[in-house]
Amino acid sequence: MRAIETQTPGGPAAERALAAEGRAAAEAAASAGDAPASELPLRLLLRFSDAGFEQRFIQHYIAFYLRYAQASLLLGALLVSGDWLIDHLAHGGAAANFLRLSLAVPVLLLGLAYSCLPQSRRHWQPAMASFIVAVALCLFFILVRIDAEGGAGLKTWVGVLNFTFLEFYCFVILGVQFRHALASGLMILAAFLYALFAHAGLSAGEAGYWAYHVLTVFILAAGIGWWREFVLRKEFLARAALDDSLLAAEQRALRLAHYDEVTGLPNRRLLGELAAPALARACAGGPACAVLHLEIDRFGGVHELFGHGQSDVMLAGMAQRLRACLRGNQALGLEWGLGPLGLAAESDRVLARLGDHAFAVFIAELEGQERASGLAQRLLAAVAEPVQVDGQQMLLTASIGIAMCPGDAQDLLNLTRCAEQTARVAAEAGGAQHKFFDEALNARAKDRVLLESELRQALLSDQLRLHYQPKVDARSARLVGAEALLRWQHPQRGLIPPGLFIPLAEDSGLIAPLTDWVLHTACQSLRRWAGQGLTVLPLSVNLPASSLADAGLPEQLSGLVQHYGLQPAWLMLELTETMVMRDMATAVAVLDRLRQLGFGLSLDDFGTGYSSLSHLKRLPMSELKIDRAFITDVARGGRDAALASAIITLGRELGLQVVAEGVETQEQAEFLIGRGCSLQQGYWFARPLPPEQFEAVLRAGTCRL
Ligand code: C2E
Ligand code: MG
Ligand code: MG
Repeated sequence: MRAIETQTPGGPAAERALAAEGRAAAEAAASAGDAPASELPLRLLLRFSDAGFEQRFIQHYIAFYLRYAQASLLLGALLVSGDWLIDHLAHGGAAANFLRLSLAVPVLLLGLAYSCLPQSRRHWQPAMASFIVAVALCLFFILVRIDAEGGAGLKTWVGVLNFTFLEFYCFVILGVQFRHALASGLMILAAFLYALFAHAGLSAGEAGYWAYHVLTVFILAAGIGWWREFVLRKEFLARAALDDSLLAAEQRALRLAHYDEVTGLPNRRLLGELAAPALARACAGGPACAVLHLEIDRFGGVHELFGHGQSDVMLAGMAQRLRACLRGNQALGLEWGLGPLGLAAESDRVLARLGDHAFAVFIAELEGQERASGLAQRLLAAVAEPVQVDGQQMLLTASIGIAMCPGDAQDLLNLTRCAEQTARVAAEAGGAQHKFFDEALNARAKDRVLLESELRQALLSDQLRLHYQPKVDARSARLVGAEALLRWQHPQRGLIPPGLFIPLAEDSGLIAPLTDWVLHTACQSLRRWAGQGLTVLPLSVNLPASSLADAGLPEQLSGLVQHYGLQPAWLMLELTETMVMRDMATAVAVLDRLRQLGFGLSLDDFGTGYSSLSHLKRLPMSELKIDRAFITDVARGGRDAALASAIITLGRELGLQVVAEGVETQEQAEFLIGRGCSLQQGYWFARPLPPEQFEAVLRAGTCRL
């Protein structure tokens, strides 16, 4: 029990369940103990209504009493022999003594021998009862002989006591089942009464007197035997109820340890047990196996939206679908249902639940990759069917990673790891697809996972840096502002550009603390520059995609600038078109509030998104940054030049300050000046600079030209 409890995957929940079952067991035991008392009648004493239960009762007590019965048989044989010896020595070989020895001892020894046979247990009670009757008859003959020889036989109280003791023994010791004891007791009583009246040579009065005593003792012995059986049964009922509920609790614990509670599917442990034989065969040159790791795409969002309860219902439904989808071909682990755990020794396909929204299908004896691919497609189609949650229809997709044994890995642990990584690669590639394990792809995915955990560390251990790229008036190279750009000073990998870790931070939820850090550091820099008496120019800070969904952003930023004693206009917040377009209504509300508070707003990477003119008109922007993509070929004329010119005109028409980013050459700079866009940012003027170098530029107020 202990071992099972500690193995239980459900942890505290499973233990709670077990504790509850333990309590239930105790209650059941208590009530089981009481139940027979309320229905004491003959039915209980003569037989149980449930034959199976009666069987268990008898087996239990026979197992318990057999040892005592054997001991008393042996003792009986010794006593009879010893008695004979004494009689022989004292009376010189009376015939009755010989009879006793030749009849009673063999009967006793035969009974003993029989009781040692394994099958004796089945006939133990009738055998013992008939044995006692035989002994009684034997004793009866002995006593009669003793009487005939003028000794103290039946005519004396010794003889009567002998018989009485036999009866008593019969009821009390053998009375596991009262009816057997009663039958043998009645036979002995009849023999005894017969002996008293027909053979003892007593007068009718004397015989009646003894018969009265014997009958009294018989009734007493019967009562004791009856009561004893009642107590035995009562105790057994309580014990059996306890055993039953402990067994049920044990089975439940075993089930918890092997099956997932939400979906009822085998868990990772059971999957391992079921897959082991097929994997061993595959590694020994037998048919290949595969693991399909299926993860529902973006399930985190669904979970947040609907909470635990609904998500669990959804997952259980999904499990049913996948199960039905597999059932099309083969049976499933769940339905094999062999053995105490419902474990099948072996199987072709196993569907298991591995994690929050992850399932695995193990395929034994795979005939070819196409089969795995076909199955993956069917599973994807099953997931893609609409789901009803809270009256809403939802469309989910999944990503599947497939790893093969023995090619990709040889044990289930590594096989599931490969499949899981591959599923992640499939999810990153847009989801709703399956992929086979590929070493190179997975190495990259692994690298990302590693980078993510290192990024968490970076936030705590001061590895982030802000570099500042000057924004200039290209006509005079005068500094007009700067953009704060994030860098990660990795202890081993060196300076990592934001393009490599910002998307990762956005996926993993690290973007919020990262943005906090950037905003605080940018504000600290502005404060320091102002404190040093340097001209304070607007500093642009890039905001992540998620920021506009937060209605509290304006107040938060306003608190921040107040905290550092800055003016909101000193901060220019850079947003991309795509961010704004995601939820236009909320975005416009947040942006309006930011403008009211006095923050500068810049539309970054303009031209790469999908914003239409009408949208642009609704946005309360103060600046528009033409994306580098349009600047690169601008000096060569052609399409890019035309587009850049159009954007510049458009920005000016809308009253926005237009900045060209990514200016790398003098030609580009001059072309843009010629088109009326003199505010520029790019390597031609300065690369993003570490704080000390940027402060020098700030002091000079100009960039090289
Ligand atoms: P962005 O906001 O468009 O920033 C301009 C990017 O162009 C910067 O790249 C800058 O170094 C680069 N750049 C500037 N002039 C030139 C040039 O003349 N030639 C070339 N080839 N590149 C130039 P960086 O620093 O790698 O940043 C890339 C992107 O990462 C940024 O694009 C921005 O979207 C994002 N990012 C940077 N810092 C942050 C941050 O603190 N928070 C957020 N959410 N995103 C940031
Ligand atoms: Mg930017
Ligand atoms: Mg940009």
